[in-house]
Amino acid sequence: MNVLLVGSGGREHALAWRLAQSPLLDRLYAAPGNPGIAEYAECVPIAATDQAALLAFCREHDIRFVVVGPEQPLVEGLSDRLREAGIAVFGPSAAAAQLEGSKGFTKDLCQRANIPTAGYVRVTSLEAARNALGTFGLPVVIKADGLAAGKGVTIASSPEEADAALVALFDGPGAEAVIEEFLTGEEASLFVLTDGTSYLPFGSAQDHKRVGDGDVGPNTGGMGAYSPARVLTPELEQLAIDTIVRPTIEKLAEEGMPYSGVLYAGLMLTPLGPKLIEYNARFGDPECQVLMMRLESDLLEIMLATAEGRLAGHKVRFSDDPALTVVVAARGYPGTPAAGGTITGIDTAEAHGARVFQAGTRREGEALVASGGRVLTVTATGRSVREAQAAAYRAVDRIAFADGFCRRDIGWREIAREEG
Ligand code: ATP
Repeated sequence: MNVLLVGSGGREHALAWRLAQSPLLDRLYAAPGNPGIAEYAECVPIAATDQAALLAFCREHDIRFVVVGPEQPLVEGLSDRLREAGIAVFGPSAAAAQLEGSKGFTKDLCQRANIPTAGYVRVTSLEAARNALGTFGLPVVIKADGLAAGKGVTIASSPEEADAALVALFDGPGAEAVIEEFLTGEEASLFVLTDGTSYLPFGSAQDHKRVGDGDVGPNTGGMGAYSPARVLTPELEQLAIDTIVRPTIEKLAEEGMPYSGVLYAGLMLTPLGPKLIEYNARFGDPECQVLMMRLESDLLEIMLATAEGRLAGHKVRFSDDPALTVVVAARGYPGTPAAGGTITGIDTAEAHGARVFQAGTRREGEALVASGGRVLTVTATGRSVREAQAAAYRAVDRIAFADGFCRRDIGWREIAREEG
């Protein structure tokens, strides 16, 4: 079977690596891909959001299955267009992807399905937002409604900070916001495959959003992750599935927008049990890299079963050994990253079992150079998170990338637990 993978990040590099191992695969294409993905797939210069060109490419190359990596094309309805053309897709419809595309949609769904989440109000004007603020204590959480690549959330500790966030948010026309109660606890990510009816837990992870060691500095797309997140014990995972994930899948199906693909639940493990912070409609980046490192089952087979509504009875195997990934970013990130720095040493880094998934890279002649904020995700496994961390940083230190930097403490919470 010919498969098209849509996307160009470290997440898609990890997916391409696993898809390429499937005996079901004939040819793998990637749009647009990157130099790392090009080791496993033929990369074609079509943007992930160019629906017409992707559809035409599928027709011309006998593509029977499309795996959509990032959220933007899902929210814009790429899966719907492909399904209308008779092509199987891993990724939800635009209607179901509202779970990620609209925070207000998700909060209202939680209310209708009685799903534990932070108390909230939806507001569409600055005046309404200011009136609503009084009903929340401090800190208070203020979120733009739509996709904001992690930049649409303010946790305000004073009324002045809250007001400034709201003024900025309602600066333009058509703005919508969600104001939320602040939850306390540890965060964990739970991944579940679902075909709209059946579901299959697909591992857990914990990411590191802040740019600096010790979780300080601005938010990023993610500076590292490890899997499994043992803080999400089997009991808590079951509770999260019973009270959050399953009711979501059932409610969406009942309301005529069944969810097909991977459901990524961002959870807060509060003293009162797991509560939903957010849903994503795709794998996390870099969480996907650690899941793929541990996956022992055939990825293509299980993704196809998800897309074709045959998930019932499927099992999935993951290695018990933890995996950990360190993001190497270009100086300046998450502001304006330095572009064009050369990268060498990936082969040496991989010679001892680590895998270097590429994100913002491009070829310049023979050279590999940086072309984005997050450039590499260096991933390793071990018998403990401490061992996986040591292996990942050994690999990082074999890579020469003068413009690069990384956090040095990925996995610190879990290592403290392992050694505490
Ligand atoms: P992401 O890039 O993680 O998808 P996002 O823009 O979709 O971010 P959220 O995930 O909803 O936004 O929030 C971002 C972060 O803000 C969360 O990971 C969490 O740390 C914090 N946060 C969000 N909501 C709350 C809440 N109600 N209480 C406490 N912290 C919260």
